[in-house]
This record gives sequence, C-alpha cells and structure tokens, in this order.
Amino acid sequence: MHCYRCGIALREDERHLRRKIQTGELVRHEPGRRSRPTASRYGLRVVCARCARLIDFGSGRLELVENLKLALAMAVLIAMGLFALLTR
Ligand SMILES: [Zn+2]
Repeated sequence: MHCYRCGIALREDERHLRRKIQTGELVRHEPGRRSRPTASRYGLRVVCARCARLIDFGSGRLELVENLKLALAMAVLIAMGLFALLTR
C-alpha cells in the first residue's frame, strides 16, 4: 500500500491514516473555448504520516483564519455597543 498523496510505501502501522483529499476534477469542454475545471471531487484516501500532518496543518490554518474573522466581527460589535453607550 502506498500514500495516495506522495506515493511513498507505507509501513504496516501507518495504514490507518486517512484524510479527505482531492481525487479528481470535473472539466467542462465547450467547443471553441479553453476547458477549465468546474468542480473538484474529494474522497478519503490512505496517506502517510507526513502528508496527514501537512493536510491537518493546512486545514487548521484555514480554521484559524475563520476564527480570526469571527473575533474581529465580535470586536466590532462590542466597540459599536460601547460607542452607543458612551454617546447616549
Ligand atoms: Zn505521503
């Protein structure tokens, strides 16, 4: 068995790691136009520990960005509330 992402041979104890990764693209062909991918397919595939870490790190970073956006929105709301209180 090999890692789906990088192709390295997996040891017996590494074969339990599965991650959701892109397995294909749906490409629309239109006559006279350059074909471009319109949708991506994702599936669970067996990966090595290194790739699993990389994938986890990537998604964790996205989550952090989302949390930062949420924190910023909360801060703006609180500031607006304080402003409304102070200018009453
Ligand atoms: Zn790998």
